[in-house]
Amino acid sequence: MKYVLVTGGVVSGLGKGVTASSIGVVLKACGLRVTSIKIDPYLNTDAGTMSPFEHGEVFVLDDGGEVDLDLGNYERFLDATLTKENNITTGKIYQSVLEKERRGDYLGKTVQVVPHITDAIKDWIESVALIPVDGKEGPADVCVIELGGTVGDIESMPFIEALRQLSFSVGQDNFCLVHVSLIPVLGVVGEQKTKPTQHSVRELRALGLTPHLLACRSAQPLLDNTKEKLSQFCHVAAANILNIHDVPNIWHIPLLLRNQNAHHSILKQLDLLSIATPPDLEAWTRRAETFDNLTDSVRIAMVGKYVGLTDSYLSVVKALLHACIECSLQPSIDWIAASDLEDDTAQSTPEAHAAAWKTLRNAECILVPGGFGDRGVHGMILAAKYARENNVPYLGICLGMQISVIEYARSVLGLERANSTEFDEQTPNPVVIFLPEGSRTHMGSTMRRGSRRTLFQTPDCVTSKLYCNPQYVDERHRHRYEVNPDVIGVLEEAGLKFFGKDETGKRMEVLELPGHPFYVGVQFHPEFKSRPGKPSAPFLGLILSARGQLEAYLTRHQNGI
Ligand code: GLN
Repeated sequence: MKYVLVTGGVVSGLGKGVTASSIGVVLKACGLRVTSIKIDPYLNTDAGTMSPFEHGEVFVLDDGGEVDLDLGNYERFLDATLTKENNITTGKIYQSVLEKERRGDYLGKTVQVVPHITDAIKDWIESVALIPVDGKEGPADVCVIELGGTVGDIESMPFIEALRQLSFSVGQDNFCLVHVSLIPVLGVVGEQKTKPTQHSVRELRALGLTPHLLACRSAQPLLDNTKEKLSQFCHVAAANILNIHDVPNIWHIPLLLRNQNAHHSILKQLDLLSIATPPDLEAWTRRAETFDNLTDSVRIAMVGKYVGLTDSYLSVVKALLHACIECSLQPSIDWIAASDLEDDTAQSTPEAHAAAWKTLRNAECILVPGGFGDRGVHGMILAAKYARENNVPYLGICLGMQISVIEYARSVLGLERANSTEFDEQTPNPVVIFLPEGSRTHMGSTMRRGSRRTLFQTPDCVTSKLYCNPQYVDERHRHRYEVNPDVIGVLEEAGLKFFGKDETGKRMEVLELPGHPFYVGVQFHPEFKSRPGKPSAPFLGLILSARGQLEAYLTRHQNGI
């Protein structure tokens, strides 16, 4: 196995994840098989308990792993299916070491950070790197490891030490270190400053790791003399100093790396030049350029709870982007805090209420994404009602689907207090209920997570046609509550159809409202499997419908065009 380690210096938020996944893309384009590992030095064992307000979205994998959103980037860029083991955290490592200690596996020895924690890190990396993630058999050629945080952070020290040992044990030809750093520009003179990078490289070297390549983030392209200085003071060949300056969209990053021959430097370091092909990035180039030249945009209202930090819905935003590009449209997302639509807000902050409604009315389509807790739920119900009554295309994801069931029960069935037991345990009309897959009294994780199959009840529904599969689809889940199986009959009689169910027929997965241009709710999260060039079906349906192109698209596809 060959390793490419990506570290970061100077400041956080440099786009290390995008750089690392772009390196993966370029290597893949050279005909190599690539996998990736993300190391998060925090103590949480996974991202499942982390607030989207603080940390952005929790990304969900096929195996149910709740991981850092960077893994989403890797999956999208590499078109891979990662496992929860591909995300290593300090918490996971300590947990495994402490479990071994309790079992007596250390035979009475003193258990220490070095060597026990560092050994656990190395073992983890070496075994996970072997898991195939591209649907083929056998291990990949290269594993890209991204070390989260900034070099010098106290919490990443054991990882740095473990990686130093790893680099030594796998040998020169199997290890390539790319250090991502910042080149700020200061003052009136506008000089590109190399000192922060010099310091962070020195720090890295003091810890026993020498970067083979530098990936320098800057606003403007690096000047030649900046590169020379960096090369001289950081002990990195000039050809290996890459520059990632600001670009119009992140799809340009693999191209930027390719244009600077990053693949050549990496392949040379890894002694892979003889088996690699010249990079084929035609599709990337086309996509990046198409994106830059889009002129027409589509207005999408996103009605959610965590609208302050757009990273909270990162995969939804990406999925919208993939769908829009397919339709040659630029997404124009209007974020609406669901609570701003509520009557109470009309009293407390009338301007916010008026602005939220104005935005909603202006939208060409409405999306209610997933979420937990009752904040803003009433506002989401109002948005779903508005979409349903005014024939505005609507996509409800997970919570968004449950919202449309509550809304329908209240408005159409006249069950005014219909609710989910998540929001009102005493509701006389529980239309959404807690229906754990395991035992109801089970104390552990009760969340239904990961890939599950949805069987289409008819090949004649919009969703199955969009998925181009008359029978089933496998999508990822992360929820506790379900549509109450006891109310399906009345809801269907009243017009709301459940066209997708799980294999037992008890869990509702897809709802549609025939007669409406596009009113779809899905209990799963289709955003996690959307890929550039392979947009997710429900998102594509929403955007096509926003532009009145859905019918024509479905007919075209039915005819195999
Ligand atoms: N809170 C809802 C549930 O647990 C929806 C979850 C979600 O949207 N991811 O079922």
